[in-house]
Amino acid sequence: MSDLYAVLEVARDATDDDIKKSYRRLAMVYHPDRNPAADAEGRFKEIAEAYSILTDPDKRAHYDRFGSVPTGSGGFGQDFHHLDLSDALNIFMRDIGFNGLDGIFGGGAQRDPTRGQDIRVTVKLSLQEVALGAKRNVRLKTLVACDACGATGSGKGTRPVQCTMCAGTGEVRRAARSMFGQFVQVAPCPTCHGEGRVITTPCEVCRGEGRIRGERTVTVDVPPGVSAQHYLTIRGQGTPGPRGGTPGDLIVMIEVKDDDRFVRDGDDLTLELPVSFAQAALGTTAVVPTPYGEESLPIPAGTQSGTVLRVRGKGLPRLSGNGTGDLNVKVFVWTPDELTELQRGLFTELAKHEGEGPKRKGGFWSKLKEALGA
Ligand SMILES: [Zn+2]
Ligand SMILES: [Zn+2]
Repeated sequence: MSDLYAVLEVARDATDDDIKKSYRRLAMVYHPDRNPAADAEGRFKEIAEAYSILTDPDKRAHYDRFGSVPTGSGGFGQDFHHLDLSDALNIFMRDIGFNGLDGIFGGGAQRDPTRGQDIRVTVKLSLQEVALGAKRNVRLKTLVACDACGATGSGKGTRPVQCTMCAGTGEVRRAARSMFGQFVQVAPCPTCHGEGRVITTPCEVCRGEGRIRGERTVTVDVPPGVSAQHYLTIRGQGTPGPRGGTPGDLIVMIEVKDDDRFVRDGDDLTLELPVSFAQAALGTTAVVPTPYGEESLPIPAGTQSGTVLRVRGKGLPRLSGNGTGDLNVKVFVWTPDELTELQRGLFTELAKHEGEGPKRKGGFWSKLKEALGA
């Protein structure tokens, strides 16, 4: 087992807070969606596992004493690198406070010796697709069930037989000695690899694997309102397990393409809208883009630069299905940097008739006076 403290880059006497901070920092660096390096995913899982152990007081105490993790209820078992990607992502999502929608997001995968691997794909969405939701057909190069043997792995006319080594239990027990005395060690059966059955005549097509290389297309239904921190778990759409074992999951990571028109803040969007002096002073109707198409927005006469006009319900839908964010239109008055003769003349004329500038009410001194009750 690697040193969990070293994995999280903290001292042995680190507080829970130190551990959390370090975990967050490292998880962001090695998150497989952010870090394309080949070993990032493994590192990410390792970090998540170390974090989940060291933030559990019982497990941490046990680890400090014995250098291992307790087995049994709630433990991760004797095998250390045992957390799969969807577990690691769940720890990550839980830690940054995201509550997944049941059945769509999150959820741990059960451990099973014949479970197939998870497949990870990334889906890149435009802001409009985030607003409306999207359906994508994702083509997967993966293993598919072998038709020749019906995914059993056994050659024509033969069937797997019970493993004689473990009598079909998939486990072997043997007595081992330690300084504390004798104990019984349970391990997966080496003959049948924990499956309890062995194949006497392997299928010629898949060589006893029950699955062969192939391609599959999965339709991914992305609900409206997702962001790059989200991922979808589609149960059973990963790699099929060997010999008809449980398939893994398909994990769909979300990426959102940049849209220079909008700045996103959760469900709200902000847009900068330039207006001229004349439009700001006289008022106008502007046409503004939204993820749902263009909208006309009245700009009232006398609008100051920096005013934010709120267009309700034209932001992004909340993932919970509970309403939609707003579109904030930040008005700024645009100053012309080149003038025609006519414009220069008109501005000069205007300048003669300009009133006083903004009155300095609510300044620092008057606020102080108010605070003092003056
Ligand atoms: Zn066996
Ligand atoms: Zn086969």
